[in-house]
Amino acid sequence: MKSRIPPGTVETETIAAVATPPGRGGVGIVRISGPLVQNVARALIKAVLNPRYAMYCDFLAEDNSVIDQGIVLYFPAPHSFTGEDVLELQGHGGPVVLEMLLTRVTGLGARIARPGEFSERAFLNNKLDLSQAEAIADLIDSASQQAAKSAVKSLQGEFSKKIQSINENITALRMHVEAAIDFPEEEIDFLSDEKISDGVQVIGESLTAVLQQASKGVLLREGITLVLAGRPNAGKSSLMNLLSGKDAAIVTHIAGTTRDLINEYINLDGVPLKLVDTAGIRAVENEVEEQGVRRALAEIEYADGVLLLIDLNEYRDWSAGITDLLEELPDNDKVIIILNKVDLIDEMPDVPVDFPYPVIPLSAKLGTGHDELLSKIKQIFALDLSGEGSFIARTRHIDALNRALNHLRQGKEQLSTHHAGELLAEELRLSHESLGEITGDFSSDDLLGRIFSSFCIGK
Ligand code: GDP
Repeated sequence: MKSRIPPGTVETETIAAVATPPGRGGVGIVRISGPLVQNVARALIKAVLNPRYAMYCDFLAEDNSVIDQGIVLYFPAPHSFTGEDVLELQGHGGPVVLEMLLTRVTGLGARIARPGEFSERAFLNNKLDLSQAEAIADLIDSASQQAAKSAVKSLQGEFSKKIQSINENITALRMHVEAAIDFPEEEIDFLSDEKISDGVQVIGESLTAVLQQASKGVLLREGITLVLAGRPNAGKSSLMNLLSGKDAAIVTHIAGTTRDLINEYINLDGVPLKLVDTAGIRAVENEVEEQGVRRALAEIEYADGVLLLIDLNEYRDWSAGITDLLEELPDNDKVIIILNKVDLIDEMPDVPVDFPYPVIPLSAKLGTGHDELLSKIKQIFALDLSGEGSFIARTRHIDALNRALNHLRQGKEQLSTHHAGELLAEELRLSHESLGEITGDFSSDDLLGRIFSSFCIGK
């Protein structure tokens, strides 16, 4: 087992935490990891540990009174989750008894673990790479079955394997390019060699494919934010209720009831969809309304998309009615126009073929057009998550993949226009490093700290 910790740098402390969620449950687990595990066990259970064997025993206090009874599991290093000696005490899931057990364990020399510290140790001891450690947190936080399935794929290393395979190709290419640089008299021939341009091409294609898959993985994890906008009384709150299937926003016929922002989450084929109902965009009459409108506009700017509603009953000539609304909208290229209240008019409205945005006639009251709207949302956000191979991913992975691809493109440019072998080699090195940030092979302590501290205790 190759450790990521430079030898002799730190004396490893033994850590302990309650690994089950707070509250009451049938079973509560205290997890301990580090060199003092055997000492803790000797004092606590007064029995010889048998590796990977479920042993039923008493957990003893210092005065030999019984704190709890339960199962003890021992995983000797390096064959454990953290790669260190690990002890799991499975007692009863009550907050007081678990606290007493934890206090006993810390009294025997362990200290309370920081959030994510077990996973951090597993990473430092090379039991998993950084994207796999992140997948543990993502699996626990999954908001849908699709997200959970994808997180398991990442945890099993599906994402990491793709990154590693690209990195192996980059390494092979770097060796080839660097060999060319080392023999300057032959450099030109070497660099003209198709092997290099073909190699760059293949790596670029693999990176693009992974980037596409990872983008879907990010959607599963982070979801999409859609803002409902339009004039007061267009039916924004009613649409919110229709989409979320409950009375989340107050619906009234008095213009401007939704002064504040109301959020709802719905699950669209496994993708969390955050709906933000805003105060309408309109000429305001007082300061409170003005604040509401300002917040609505700010929200639209940061949202992934906008559902812009117009009351078809009031604006029979809807495309004229929508023009000034569109002008007021901050830039957002993903806009769906909703012609609401179709139930109040006799004829379906015409939609010019060259209209720049998708248009959905709908009745928030009756639900007409609901399915069409959901299909349109899926279509414009490319939410086709069916099929093989989606793994969970984070924005930081996308960022690293984009940088890797950029360095590769710049390297290609150096090769094709300047025949500059050394610059190509440097860009390949940078591309390699960017990918290494995903797996944690090139990550700053700061980044690691940020990632692991967002985990919960005992993970
Ligand atoms: P908001 O101000 O944009 O949030 O609009 P509301 O959702 O509060 O709706 C304003 C009024 O229009 C309410 O009386 C709703 O019942 C009514 N309304 C909303 N959608 C429809 C619809 O599709 N058809 C009809 N007939 N009335 C609707």
